[in-house]
Amino acid sequence: MRILTGIGVSPGVAIGKAFVREPQKFNVQCRHIETHTIEDEKNRFFDSIKKTVQDIEHLITTLSFSIEDQEILETHKMILLDPELEINVLGEIEAELVCLEFALYNYFTGVIDVFDNMENEYFSQRAIDFKEVAHRLLNYLSGETDAYIEELSGEHILLMEEMPPSKVTEFAAHDVPGICAVKGSKTSHSAIIARSIGIPMVIGIPNLLKKAVEGETVIVDGRNGLVIFSPDEDTLKKYKKYRWRQIKHKDDLKYLTGKPAITRDGVRIKILNNIEFPKELDLIKQNGADGVGLFRTEFLYIDKKELPDETFQYNIYREIAEKLHPNPLVIRTFDLGGDKLSGFLNIKQERNPNLGCRGIRLSLQYTDIFRIQLRAILRAAVSGNISVMFPMITGLDDYRAAMKILRKVRAELVAEGIECSESLSVGVMIEVPSAAILADQLAKECDFFSIGTNDLIQYTLAVDRDADNVARYYSGYHPAVLHLIEITVNSAKKANIPVSICGEMASERDFIPFLIGLGIRQLSVSPSMTLITKEQVMKLDSNALAGIIPEVKSRGSITEEQEYLKQWRTEHEY
Ligand code: PEP
Ligand code: MG
Repeated sequence: MRILTGIGVSPGVAIGKAFVREPQKFNVQCRHIETHTIEDEKNRFFDSIKKTVQDIEHLITTLSFSIEDQEILETHKMILLDPELEINVLGEIEAELVCLEFALYNYFTGVIDVFDNMENEYFSQRAIDFKEVAHRLLNYLSGETDAYIEELSGEHILLMEEMPPSKVTEFAAHDVPGICAVKGSKTSHSAIIARSIGIPMVIGIPNLLKKAVEGETVIVDGRNGLVIFSPDEDTLKKYKKYRWRQIKHKDDLKYLTGKPAITRDGVRIKILNNIEFPKELDLIKQNGADGVGLFRTEFLYIDKKELPDETFQYNIYREIAEKLHPNPLVIRTFDLGGDKLSGFLNIKQERNPNLGCRGIRLSLQYTDIFRIQLRAILRAAVSGNISVMFPMITGLDDYRAAMKILRKVRAELVAEGIECSESLSVGVMIEVPSAAILADQLAKECDFFSIGTNDLIQYTLAVDRDADNVARYYSGYHPAVLHLIEITVNSAKKANIPVSICGEMASERDFIPFLIGLGIRQLSVSPSMTLITKEQVMKLDSNALAGIIPEVKSRGSITEEQEYLKQWRTEHEY
């Protein structure tokens, strides 16, 4: 048995046979051509572009999951149809008398090298796009195809160097139960798509492909970030049991779709969803959530060739709101770090991007971009079920500065005679300790709170949420985190404003009794966690929860909190 540790980016357990997909190397020979065959090479160029574009268009119309997938494929199409590609490749064939494959190889490796050597995430994503396009083209020319995808089935765990976001849905369509990759991050598109669909995924394992043996049994533990090769009998039995329970559980939970989450003593808890892409709406419908508690709009900006304009955003917000109506749609203004927008803005690389110009700070610095988004939101919000919230608020100054812009934007729309919402409800994400500490003051001015525990843990404990070498310090059980949540909820109660949780904690079994016990009535979770969260809530009796809070407050360490919350679960058969 060999256990490799990585970062679990999509929870759940998958068991199957290792299907190792080595990174495709361009194996291109330089073949010299005669002058009289230049035209033939050119024709092969146009033919390969045409065929590859057709393949991509076919995928765009047949892939049904995500608009994001489709946009990635549209980007690939644009790369293929970019005049630069044609000029450079045909130019080299003619000038150097080399074959098409070699000219393509030179063009793509040149572009990929440039992007690969840039540190920021935006540009490294661009390199992935160019690599995918180069593979498609060269595969077509060499007669190789992505035929391996056809071989995939429900018994294969896919192990790759990096997971192209445009492929995750294809893998899901072949029932691939689990995915592992050498590279990636928790917030990479492929990780987000895997989470939404519910495929367990572990990334960040440097020697994954070297250590894997094709066809051997492998377990992916997406919750704990483990990949276990050739598990011993006990381990396999344990995980099989877990997996069986997981599958059975999923089936057993189907009856909850569309049912409201009500505790045993009749308290209604709203289970909302966190979404990143508009197409996730289908998943919301499938799982019967009560609306969207967090729309992470930054995904409308990331990896785009140009900034999304007002009409584009308005159409998306309006469409989602209409489909959800009368259920709510909470739009978070873009929570981008400078690195993610550096493709558009002249922003210096920051030493600590998480502590730098991100979230509302970036919006307040680049007000033109912020104003466009606010215009789109205010216009769409005439639907009546949209509200907006600001990320990374540290206190009243941030909130008031953002509100000043919002009011101004609304006044401009009114002056232009454009219909917009007069009564948009405006909330604050509580994800920085200072905002939690000052929640009393914020609650007097804003309309609702949404507690972002993912960042609240990161900033309270000074631990990078994505760094595996300090992962053991990142814990929601830390008494300081629980204390800040309590302060926030109490401030909201005092001011009589709603408060929800939209971080991962909202769907974690240990924490739900504590959160409901505090008085939380809205949990916003990933679509794939909707039914399981409903089930947890429905097992609870809110009267039995009152005792949890003083107990939690009396404990001073992570271990003690964890032990207590787990023990509570066991005692209450929860
Ligand atoms: C959070 O920080 O808890 C949150 C929900 O926002 P994100 O994960 O997008 O930072
Ligand atoms: Mg956050």
